[in-house]
Amino acid sequence: MKERFRTVLLLLLVFQNNIYCQVSISSKPMEVYLLIGQSNMAGRGAIDAESEKTSQDIFMLDKSNNWVIAKDPVHFDKSSAGVGPAISFAQAMLKDKMNAQIGLIPCAWGGSPIKVWQPGVKYFDNFPYDEAIARAKIALQKGVLKGILWHQGESDNDSKKAEVYLEKLKALVANLRMDLNAPNLSFVAGEIGYFNKENHINTIINKLPDEVAHTAVVSAKDLTDKGDHLHFDTASARELGKRYAAEMKKLEQESFKETKKPRVVLTFDDAEVSHLTNVAPLLLKYGYNATFFVCEFPIRQQDEKEQYLVWKQIKNLHDMGFEIGNHTGHHKNVTKLSVEDIKKEVGFVDEKCKEFGIPKPISFAYPGNRYDTISQRILKEMGYKFARTGGAKYYKVNEDSRLAIPSYTVISSSKYKERTLEALQNLKEEDVLVLTFHGVPDLIHPDYSTSIDFLNEILQFIKEKKYKVVAMKSL
Ligand SMILES: [Zn+2]
Repeated sequence: MKERFRTVLLLLLVFQNNIYCQVSISSKPMEVYLLIGQSNMAGRGAIDAESEKTSQDIFMLDKSNNWVIAKDPVHFDKSSAGVGPAISFAQAMLKDKMNAQIGLIPCAWGGSPIKVWQPGVKYFDNFPYDEAIARAKIALQKGVLKGILWHQGESDNDSKKAEVYLEKLKALVANLRMDLNAPNLSFVAGEIGYFNKENHINTIINKLPDEVAHTAVVSAKDLTDKGDHLHFDTASARELGKRYAAEMKKLEQESFKETKKPRVVLTFDDAEVSHLTNVAPLLLKYGYNATFFVCEFPIRQQDEKEQYLVWKQIKNLHDMGFEIGNHTGHHKNVTKLSVEDIKKEVGFVDEKCKEFGIPKPISFAYPGNRYDTISQRILKEMGYKFARTGGAKYYKVNEDSRLAIPSYTVISSSKYKERTLEALQNLKEEDVLVLTFHGVPDLIHPDYSTSIDFLNEILQFIKEKKYKVVAMKSL
């Protein structure tokens, strides 16, 4: 009995060791790709001698969620699974990346129409979408998710289904990006073979890149079938994989360039009503996000009241996609408050946000731009990640504290106008320009007023320079 126990234990150790060895052959980072769609993603090409060649740097997540050296058939959806685009895709991706490993997550299901690629929808005994998300999350414990390969459309290739296909595909991309918490995740779709008896779907698939950012489509031109007018033969499946890699690399280069762009943060203080009436519509027109630092500004006369937003309107700004930041409950100079009172003032906005269904703010702006080490410490304790001050300097990410981010105050007077335009003109890619606005225009504090025309001029300049506009929370 004892002996048997030892043998089992030994086997267990050997087994564990094996797996351990397989997943940690090197310390190279693993770049992970999710493979979804129907049979041509799963692969139906005949296995050949080429299929025996493997790479120590290409892995796949097997049926039991273990990383193993990748080899066709990568998929296991049906016993007919064979050569698909996955391996040649991974080989091509590795070509320029000597210092990386590729991890493939096979999740395609033969025959599946696009309507089953939704959360909670069953296809025979499986939930294709839910399982893809679950397996991607397992893969993320080991690597970084870099993109999604989608090949599907044969099951939707008639005039009626093609009509609603684009909307379904867009919803799928949006769902995947949301559930994988990767809003800009690269997504490459593939055309179905031109050998299909009818072709309604390829023109629809090709509309995707115009409608959704960070997506691309690979052509299936000149690829051949294995004789069934449905499935790519082995050589064509491999060629398709190379085409996927070429498009995926293009998307990766684009997003790399995107991260190199100079960044601008637009912030609007004091919850003025012009933020909702004038600023928000203009920002939406340009497609720019912004951070609104809100407070209940102390009013001197009753008629000033209508110049400020009420909480329901602040919630409207949140619903439009803008970030709501904290500017203390009542616009208090935090350097003159006790620790208890700072907590009360900061907590006031946190509570109001909670009451009105706005996420707890993580960005803060010091009223009057005044701060000290005590206020920084308390903000940090209260879950604040960013705090903005003034100073008319660029924010240098590697030098400045995130709890004392400098900004330029923007006012329409000619002196400030010139200063703002100069700061925009000289912005370098490694720096961040944070702009602080008050009312647009500001009727109560004319000294801090920015005209709508000047805001428009700034946004136009940013657009022409192709700067990246982000909310403070995304810094
Ligand atoms: Zn203020």
